[in-house]
Amino acid sequence: MSDVLITNVGVLVTGDVENPRSNAESVYVADGVVREVDATTTTAETVVDARGATLAPGLIDSHVHPVFGDYTPRQRTLGWCESYLHGGITSMISNGEPHLPGRPPDVESAKALATLAHKSFERERPGGVKLRGGTLILGDGMTEDDIEDVHREGVERLKFLMPVEDRSLGRDLVRWGHDRDMVVLMHCGGTSLPGVESTDAELFVDIQPDIAAHTNGGPTPVPDEEVRKLVTETDLVLDLVLAGNQRVAVDILQLAADRDDLHRVQLGTDTPSGTGVTPLGVLLEAAILASMTDVPPAEILCLASGTTATHHGLDTGRIEPGRPADLVLLDAPKGGPRDDALATLAHGEYPAVDKVWVDGELLVERSRNTAPAKTPAEVL
Ligand SMILES: [Zn+2]
Repeated sequence: MSDVLITNVGVLVTGDVENPRSNAESVYVADGVVREVDATTTTAETVVDARGATLAPGLIDSHVHPVFGDYTPRQRTLGWCESYLHGGITSMISNGEPHLPGRPPDVESAKALATLAHKSFERERPGGVKLRGGTLILGDGMTEDDIEDVHREGVERLKFLMPVEDRSLGRDLVRWGHDRDMVVLMHCGGTSLPGVESTDAELFVDIQPDIAAHTNGGPTPVPDEEVRKLVTETDLVLDLVLAGNQRVAVDILQLAADRDDLHRVQLGTDTPSGTGVTPLGVLLEAAILASMTDVPPAEILCLASGTTATHHGLDTGRIEPGRPADLVLLDAPKGGPRDDALATLAHGEYPAVDKVWVDGELLVERSRNTAPAKTPAEVL
C-alpha cells in the first residue's frame, strides 16, 4: 500500500465554503484517497513536513476549452494542462471544444466531437490533470434523441454557445438535459467569436440553464444592470473567469457574498482562448477577488475547489476522508510581503505552489511557474 502522511499543516482549507478552515495539522492518504484528517496514524511510506504551509484541495478550473490531449490549437501550445498543474490545478471542466480546427457545424459532428472528447479524456489525463472533457455544443435542429445519444455515451454537459433561434427548443433542450442529470451551461455576455451571439439576463430567466458561463464576460460582460439581475433574480451558478472583466467579477462576488449566495460562485479561466494560456489563472483570479472584496481568501479557495465540484457532481474538491487525495500545498512566495498563502492572496498576489498531489501521487515537487515557497515543505 502506498501511503503519505502530511504533517505540520499551518491552515487546512477544507473546500467547504460553509466551513472553509480547519485546525487539523495533518492528513493521512492511502491508495490515493484521504483516510484521516487530523491523523492518528503517525508513520507512512512518505512523510511530508509541511512546515506551517497551507494545505488546500487541488484547484478546479471551472472553464477551459481543450480539444484533444495536452495541446491547444487556439494558442498552438503543447503541454498547457501540465503547466496548469504547476498552478495548482488538479481538475478542469470543459466548456466545449469549439477550437477544433475545421469544426463542422452540423448536429452529428457536434455529437461526435463531444462524445470523442469525453471518452478520450476519460482514458488519458493530459499533463496529469483530471479533465472532464466533452461538452455538447447545442444548436438548432437538435432533438431529444440527440441528447439521449450523447448521454448514453457518457457526455455530462450541454452548452449553448449561442442562443438557439427557437426559444421553445431552448427550453426543451434544458429539460431533456435535466431529465438525464446533465449540467447545462450558457454563454453569458457579448460576442466572443464570429458567429456567436450575445445573451442577456432575460434569456437566462426564460431558458433556465444551470450555469451562466463566464458571468463576468468572456471577454465582454452584459451591462451592469443585467449582471445584477443574474445575481438577484436567478439562482444560476455564477462563473467568474480570468478572461472576463475583473471589475465586474469583483462586483458579482461581493453582491453574492452580501446576499449569502457564495455557494453559487465558482472560479475558472475561460482559457485557452484569445486571452491565452494562463497556468496561474485561477490563483490570479483568487488573488484579485481576495484583495478587492471582503470575502476571506480561504472561502475563495473553496469556491475554486469544492463549490465547483458540487456544481458538476465531482467527487474531488474537498479534503475529507473518502475523497480522492487531490491536494495542493501553498505558501507565501519567497521574498514576498506576507508570511502565508492566505495573507498573500488577501494582499493581491498569488502564493507559491510548493507541492501538488493527484490521487495521492506527488506530481509537482516545486512549481515551475510560481516563485518558490518561503518555507518549502520537506519530504522526509
Ligand atoms: Zn468559454
